[in-house]
Amino acid sequence: MITFRRHISLLPYNTFAVPAVADTFIVSDNAAELTHELHELRRKNRLPETMLILGGGSNVLFVSSPSWVVHPDFKGVKIEKEDESTVWVRAYAGETWDDFVAWCVERDYSGMENLSAIPGTVGACPVQNIGAYGREAKDVIEQVEVFDITEGEMLSFSRKDCTFNYRDSFFKHHRGRYLIVSALFGLSKTFTPQLSYAGLMEEMGNKPVTPATVREAVISIRRRKLPDCTVLGNAGSFFKNPAVPVRKAGLLQQQYPSLPVYPAAKGYRKVSAAWLIEQCGWKGTRKGNVGCFGLQPLILINCGNASGKELMDFANEIMDSVEKKFDIRLEPEVRIIHDSTDRV
Ligand SMILES: Cc1cc2nc3c(=O)[nH]c(=O)nc-3n(C[C@H](O)[C@H](O)[C@H](O)COP(=O)(O)OP(=O)(O)OC[C@H]3O[C@@H](n4cnc5c(N)ncnc54)[C@H](O)[C@@H]3O)c2cc1C
Repeated sequence: MITFRRHISLLPYNTFAVPAVADTFIVSDNAAELTHELHELRRKNRLPETMLILGGGSNVLFVSSPSWVVHPDFKGVKIEKEDESTVWVRAYAGETWDDFVAWCVERDYSGMENLSAIPGTVGACPVQNIGAYGREAKDVIEQVEVFDITEGEMLSFSRKDCTFNYRDSFFKHHRGRYLIVSALFGLSKTFTPQLSYAGLMEEMGNKPVTPATVREAVISIRRRKLPDCTVLGNAGSFFKNPAVPVRKAGLLQQQYPSLPVYPAAKGYRKVSAAWLIEQCGWKGTRKGNVGCFGLQPLILINCGNASGKELMDFANEIMDSVEKKFDIRLEPEVRIIHDSTDRV
């Protein structure tokens, strides 16, 4: 079923819990119906120039209200094929990501356990190639099925077509045009744990290492370290770890030996954005309705009735101070929504 609703508050649709209102809010639990409707609207020239596709709203900040919002709510998880070692599972865009991870872990299908407890939907997971505890969505996504709103056709993207990168993909650079309908995940029936991420091995203790126990460990670390977005508005890490040329990373490390540096694309190193922000004195600070989380300075929080603009102004202050001190401009990981960002 498709529903067109008018003047809908987006407060319950974003984990920052900032106010915004969509003039038109289209929600559908049926992919064929929604894609047909979008195609018809396009054919009759009745689609607006810009439209926001919204999943769980856990990676967006509404600085202003979007006029049209499409909320794909298609559900379904099904095994498409399997052999002795691998099972290919298709999940639809509106599935809650963590319910899908739990479904796989319960069946001992491995590859996603480290990605447990990330808020949001399956449909959004390829967009920023979600990652945590040494794994990324690109490690398990085999194919993404999309509706091209501009051309009005269904397309299949292979993993290679998605050009996944650190918190990045093809979809992030073509916003508004491709509606992700489902994704196909290739999961392993034989378990190769990934426990190299700091603290994960310790959290496991003496437990047998299975997808279920790794999931439990990841969830308990996340519960300790991250604010619950149903209590304290936030969108997880607000900034990406910046990639800087190898030479610059080396010079910074000489000057600041405690700076954490990670591998990145050829010729680059990623440096810890949390460390840079902490060095600038932001960790645990509060300004009016907004703040920088005390346990993890990458996370900005809505301490009360913050607006998107207040949060963005605070983020800009942080970015300016980091740039002034380290000559590095941080980039938001969170999607900043201004009206008319997505051209269809
Ligand atoms: C407490 C907390 C912890 C987090 N931890 C992590 C973490 O460990 N790792 C990590 O990577 N992220 C993390 N995040 C960020 C967030 O959970 C992920 O980015 C998630 O994938 C966003 O899903 P969503 O459905 O809420 O997407 P939304 O916020 O609704 O949308 C995000 C982007 O995807 C697009 N989009 C959504 N659905 C579709 C679709 N069907 N088709 C096309 N485009 C679509 C939107 O237009 C937007 O550009 C965290 C967030 C919170 C609040």
